Amino acid sequence: MTTKHASNAAEFVNAERLQELFLELAKINGPSTKEQLVADYLVKALPELGFTLEFDEAHKNFDGEVGNLVAWHEGTDPSIPPLFFSTHMDTVLPTEGLKPVIKDGVIHSDGTTILGADDRAALAAYLEAMRAINEGGIPHGPIEFILTVNEQPGLVGASYMDYSKAKSKTGYIFDSSGDVGQIILKGPYSSRIWMEVEGNAAHIALNAEEGNSAFLIAAEGLTNMKLGTIDEETLANIGIIKGGELTSIIPGSVTVAGEVRSFSKEKLDQQLEHMAEAMKQAAEKKGGKVHVKLEKKYSGFDIPENDILVRNVEEAARNIHVKPYLTETLGGADTNVLNENGLTCLTLGLGFQNIHSFRECISIENLVNTGRLTAALIEQWYKNHKEA
Ligand SMILES: [Zn+2]
Repeated sequence: MTTKHASNAAEFVNAERLQELFLELAKINGPSTKEQLVADYLVKALPELGFTLEFDEAHKNFDGEVGNLVAWHEGTDPSIPPLFFSTHMDTVLPTEGLKPVIKDGVIHSDGTTILGADDRAALAAYLEAMRAINEGGIPHGPIEFILTVNEQPGLVGASYMDYSKAKSKTGYIFDSSGDVGQIILKGPYSSRIWMEVEGNAAHIALNAEEGNSAFLIAAEGLTNMKLGTIDEETLANIGIIKGGELTSIIPGSVTVAGEVRSFSKEKLDQQLEHMAEAMKQAAEKKGGKVHVKLEKKYSGFDIPENDILVRNVEEAARNIHVKPYLTETLGGADTNVLNENGLTCLTLGLGFQNIHSFRECISIENLVNTGRLTAALIEQWYKNHKEA
């Protein structure tokens, strides 16, 4: 009789069971702020895996159905620092009637909805990994799941999270499109800029001479504004222009809004300043006014390459014969918000593709590797701290 190598947690990850679990989770309707059905599922599934659960009240800030979920598993050795895995429970729309289809080793939707691999694939992988750890009798420290709500519209659940409920200080978030093995060390700072441009409203046939088009002021301001890729670590965009009432009225006001992202807080502030200044100068020149409002979206993070979290993934990935690779992203994720709130974490790739579209998909290989890597991370974290 052959026995499996008990020290290799990933070997206990059951690919078929993980695939079934993902399909089951994908079919649960849970768009942003309406995650109750997902929470109900977890309230049943997590205690069976040895977790105790707590919800916070974050949803009361945005009229959601349910708060963020923090689930705690003691582990077999409480002397090990706890390790968390985080993902979001919500998906974008539409999801009603979601029917996953498997073709050539890749899971798609049937083309009439999104698939929700972002990020139900991570959720399925976390559950299967814990099942594998339990079944394999793999020794491990305390494990915490931090499962947020209302992530998709802009990390809202994480922003309102009650961080006193989380016991761990370090962890991982599988929520990026790179194949399993991708490690994201760095994320951007991001702020929005709102510019209310004021001219003077007038009717073209009655008092046109009093008119001062806010649109033309804004146009001049935008023409003199550097946008797009500002440098290798800074992006700027104007995404909203709102104004005007009637085709016969010279517009007296217009709202112009955009956002800046940068790995450097200093460059972020400089670019926001430049955008405000370009609009102010245009207003001054044309006899108008502008009110600028800045709104912080999230802070950046920058985890050093020699951090234990990074080494732990590199080792765990090699243990499952996956090649680790270090990257950075100008995309925002819960990772930004958790790091800002004292929970040091990295984003990891799980290989979903074309998210937020009807062409969303994930390969079974990436799905299974996400489960295997999660199990291997838990195992390696224990070994790294036991040996230390
Ligand atoms: Zn996501």
